[in-house]
Amino acid sequence: MDIQNNQQIVSRLTDIKNSLPIGVTLVAVSKTHPADSILAAYNAGQRIFGENKVQEMSLKQEQLPQDIEWHFIGHVQKNKIRLMAPYVSVIQGVDSFDSLEEINRQASRFNRNITCLLQLHIAVEESKFGFVPSECMNMLEKGEWKKLGNITIGGVMGMATFTDDKQQVLREFNTLVNFYNAMKDRFFADDDNFHTISAGMSEDYNTAIQAGSNMIRIGSNIFGARDYSKT
Ligand SMILES: *Cc1c(COP(=O)(O)O)cnc(C)c1O
Repeated sequence: MDIQNNQQIVSRLTDIKNSLPIGVTLVAVSKTHPADSILAAYNAGQRIFGENKVQEMSLKQEQLPQDIEWHFIGHVQKNKIRLMAPYVSVIQGVDSFDSLEEINRQASRFNRNITCLLQLHIAVEESKFGFVPSECMNMLEKGEWKKLGNITIGGVMGMATFTDDKQQVLREFNTLVNFYNAMKDRFFADDDNFHTISAGMSEDYNTAIQAGSNMIRIGSNIFGARDYSKT
């Protein structure tokens, strides 16, 4: 156990939490970091953690307190859904109707309901996953998702372009918030479960909050830089 590192984690976590406006939920992104670091944050009161690899998340889930809410923030691969279906709270990177159907099918095997966020492609980069917003609208328009009783569509998720241009990042987050509002009006006006706009990471979360994000996903600013050579 690295006591000094754990103290740093707790102080960075506390600083960020104290700086957040009321109503903004913090997902502590613990990918690549050991269970011990997660436990330090847990003992300081954090309950929501995000991971982007299903196997890694499942190993940690087994070792750590059972009241942790695990958010899967990686790209959803259909063959990995059944591994996390028994425990995952929120799957944030859903970008196809097929994935929604498969999450529903796996959740039903465990009598569970899994919250899904629809990932929208808002960045200029080709490499980022997500629905083209118009395709997402079409999917919602078709209405077949309403038959999926073991999932809840909880809102949207998006990632901005990795750039120093704050105005561009703000424009992209504004686009996400505008689509959220349009979806809310057209399909979820009476649905209180559709309330999450997940946007903002270590480098851009203040800009995301400015645009209207109410869920931020922060890794390095809490746990320190990731060392991929160890994973
Ligand atoms: C890794 C990751 C984050 C956290 O990134 P940091 O820059 O370390 O805060 C947030 N969201 C997603 C989807 C990620 O993969």
